[in-house]
Amino acid sequence: MPYASLPRAHAHRSGAELHVHEDAIRANARHFSRLTRGRLMAVMKADAFGHGPVASAVIEEGATALGAASIDEGLALRRSGLDVPILSWLNPIDADFASAVSERIDLGVAGADLLHAIVRVARRLGCPARLHLHADLGMSRDGAPAAEWRTLCELARMAECRGHAQVVGIMGHMSCADRPDDPQNLRERLRFDAAVCSARHRGLSPAVTHLAATSATLAGVGGEHDLHRVGAGLYGIDPSHTSHELRFALSLRAPVISARQVGAGVGVGYGARFTTDRPTHLALLPLGYADGLPRAASHRAEVFVRGRRRPIVGVISMDMAVVDTGDDVLIPGEIVTFFGPGKEGEPTVADWASWSDTIEHEIVTRIGARVSRVHRSTHIERTPE
Ligand SMILES: *Cc1c(COP(=O)(O)O)cnc(C)c1O
Repeated sequence: MPYASLPRAHAHRSGAELHVHEDAIRANARHFSRLTRGRLMAVMKADAFGHGPVASAVIEEGATALGAASIDEGLALRRSGLDVPILSWLNPIDADFASAVSERIDLGVAGADLLHAIVRVARRLGCPARLHLHADLGMSRDGAPAAEWRTLCELARMAECRGHAQVVGIMGHMSCADRPDDPQNLRERLRFDAAVCSARHRGLSPAVTHLAATSATLAGVGGEHDLHRVGAGLYGIDPSHTSHELRFALSLRAPVISARQVGAGVGVGYGARFTTDRPTHLALLPLGYADGLPRAASHRAEVFVRGRRRPIVGVISMDMAVVDTGDDVLIPGEIVTFFGPGKEGEPTVADWASWSDTIEHEIVTRIGARVSRVHRSTHIERTPE
């Protein structure tokens, strides 16, 4: 068969698989819906942090709203048949506000330019846009700077009076909540309270206020608000290191391509940056940095096979990595685990993050398109009582 006519999915498959453990996500979602007493906005940006279609599962476990970065992410959730409030907080000035307004996607707004662009569309459609005004509390990222907050509130109030907008929420985001003792947390909470106060003073009456994400929710540093925007925690990541109840929900696995015996003093990989110090066996695995393995983890990372950890040797390349298996001679097709929940001694997402000097979020969101997704659920539908 000529290459050009290979089916696309087939042409891209490397044999590697990313297993998504829906039960772990459900358990994490239950934990957060208890902790927040049902005030849980489950954050689904970046394909649910790389976990795929899990939104309806977290809603079944108690999430009452969904969060997304772009409108497109929000629309994909809405069009998959989910009816809960959906908030999108990061959009360019020419985003598809018409679809957002007509499909009831709430929009985060941090500046007058964006507000005007949304209001223009809402006026044309004759339907008010649902807005969450976003206050910067100290990150200097998105969120309106303090000096612009008052004007933003006044402009939004004017749009409300003309029927083009409805300010349903006020949001903020904390910069240091992963360090619960950082004095910045209190400063940001107070700034948020002041921003909400100032908005009410300008005639706005938002139904919900929200600033806590995973860390602030777990560490309890966000104060009392109507919603918690939880992403990382749903996927088992606790940046605040204050919880022991969350479960990682991904396993990354790949089949051995080939194995070989080598002597001592043999170089492995580009630059021969690793040399064997004894006769050993090497196994070739079809995962590389294009598939999301951080190249920076070379010389530190381990995989799990036949009940024990083995080191990756040589520099991780684009499509493959080599493992030193000592006396074990792996068989082509045998499955090797790069990371998993950690219950059997396999490396976790946290190990990969530390081996590459990054955070778990980056590891889970960067798995490449050649890796097949396998959605695993042992969940049994609850029968209505
Ligand atoms: C990603 C994001 C969240 C979720 O944060 P986690 O720490 O992953 O829970 C909440 N709010 C905003 C604005 C975000 O960008």
